[in-house]
Amino acid sequence: MIVGLVACEKAPILGPGDNKVLASQAEPDCGYLQNAYGQRVSWKGRIPINLQVHESYPSEFQNTLESAVHHWNESAGLTLIQLIKSSDGLSATAGKNLLNSIHWITEWPETRSNTQALTSLHWTKNLITEADISINGRHFTYFIDEPRTPADVHLESLLIHELGHVLGLKHRSSVPSVMWSVLNGGIKRQVLTAADKETLKCEY
Ligand SMILES: [Zn+2]
Repeated sequence: MIVGLVACEKAPILGPGDNKVLASQAEPDCGYLQNAYGQRVSWKGRIPINLQVHESYPSEFQNTLESAVHHWNESAGLTLIQLIKSSDGLSATAGKNLLNSIHWITEWPETRSNTQALTSLHWTKNLITEADISINGRHFTYFIDEPRTPADVHLESLLIHELGHVLGLKHRSSVPSVMWSVLNGGIKRQVLTAADKETLKCEY
């Protein structure tokens, strides 16, 4: 019992002075962000991830968000992400507060006018502790079925991409993936590819 406890506490401590562990811990990225020691960061077994939908998120796009979540859950065969209604007092911006959230930001900074969305991740060792999505509700217009102008962004594709970041996924470029960093106007990219599904299996 005591030995087990000691092992549990020690195992995650990696770094200088722990060479034996460190030497064996670098992992293939498998599509995930990695910490300074080359370990994939993810939620490990701490799922489902409860994602609070802030009141700023437009209600007419709620179904689109649910559908985006469903793509990941269905592919994993389990509930990875669960949407919950924003709790009272959830701040208007996606700050670090140990709550995972999605915000629709209409005061998006002009200096980042080309950015469609941002997902911030916090992790400790190789475990993600918080994820927050901010959607640029100022510089882009979004569509569900058909774009009205060539610049309109397919919202479900964007949400799937950001939810991928929530899971710990990084940008891909060498394989077909929903995690390509660029999503051009009018493009639909809401189907998880073989590479995306393989990536999921590495951690979930
Ligand atoms: Zn991205």
